[in-house]
Amino acid sequence: MKESLSIGSLLEEGRPLRSVEFFPPKDEAAGDRMLRAAAEIQRLEPDFVSITYGAGGSTRDSSLKYARMLQEEFGFRVMPHLTCVGHSKAELREIIDEFHESGFRNIMALRGDPPKGETNFKPHPEGLHYANELVALIQELHADISIGVAGYPETHPEAPSPDEDIANLARKVRAGATFITTQLFFDNAAYFKFVDACRKADIGVPVIPGILPVLNLPQVRRFCAMCNAKLPKGLEDRLKIAGEDASVAQDVGIDWAHEQVRALLEKNAPGFHLYILNRAKAIRQLIGRLDSEGVLTRS
Ligand SMILES: Cc1cc2nc3c(=O)[nH]c(=O)nc-3n(C[C@H](O)[C@H](O)[C@H](O)COP(=O)(O)OP(=O)(O)OC[C@H]3O[C@@H](n4cnc5c(N)ncnc54)[C@H](O)[C@@H]3O)c2cc1C
Repeated sequence: MKESLSIGSLLEEGRPLRSVEFFPPKDEAAGDRMLRAAAEIQRLEPDFVSITYGAGGSTRDSSLKYARMLQEEFGFRVMPHLTCVGHSKAELREIIDEFHESGFRNIMALRGDPPKGETNFKPHPEGLHYANELVALIQELHADISIGVAGYPETHPEAPSPDEDIANLARKVRAGATFITTQLFFDNAAYFKFVDACRKADIGVPVIPGILPVLNLPQVRRFCAMCNAKLPKGLEDRLKIAGEDASVAQDVGIDWAHEQVRALLEKNAPGFHLYILNRAKAIRQLIGRLDSEGVLTRS
């Protein structure tokens, strides 16, 4: 089990970290597929893996179940996500204690999105309003937990302005977050501009870029609409040419992600976090290529 070093401490080592995000599978068959992908990913030695937390606490049990499996059966350093949606503060305390008792020393602290069918985030009457409050709660309960928070290179959709979004991000860091993982983006310029803005706002913690190897055009359009990310024309055109051919489209996604990650690491990004959608192919190919290019190590 890789729990000895927190992600915060690993980042201090200065080598580029590689990590992936899983989501809790909906049924047993999807669970088996995810575990097969995990077995393949184990050989690629990610520094940590994360597992998302469903809207309204809907995946509370399965998030914890799969987080434990990933930790115990595969030896991954696991960072479970936790959101404020649908939970009172007392429930959140219970969940944080449960994570800690299970041996997790890293948590991604989020406000969360509204449950399906609702458009606005409504805090639980006895719950928390923003992620910075969840960061503070985790810190208060277990100071040995390293806390990650979300950052938005192209601004969170609800934020009144990029500056206010960065000011809110600074609150999360002041509350105790030790690193930031970004929302997906497809143009590295957005990431570097965001990191500059963070530094100007006195946010000094590492900003891990979140990268999605896209699968096809309808999927990437849906994701971009959901999170306000811009779809570069070059990527859109290549996906259009791939058309209905799923395998060609997937290769386009992997090529684009590879170019992004290589350029990010060459400019000293602290690592990369892949949104793998519970599949192993993209990370397997990416690690293979980056390794042969020598960009996974830093002198
Ligand atoms: C890396 C990553 C992982 C994610 N994992 C999950 C997951 O597992 N489950 C899930 O449901 N969702 C997940 N999300 C999506 C996330 O929950 C949504 O983007 C959500 O809308 C915002 O969450 P947050 O933690 O960034 O919220 P916050 O940081 O609380 O920000 C929410 C909005 O409120 C504003 N704001 C923040 N603090 C204040 C304040 N004190 N006063 C006024 N305004 C404020 C911000 O500018 C922003 O517009 C993830 C996102 C990322 C980038």
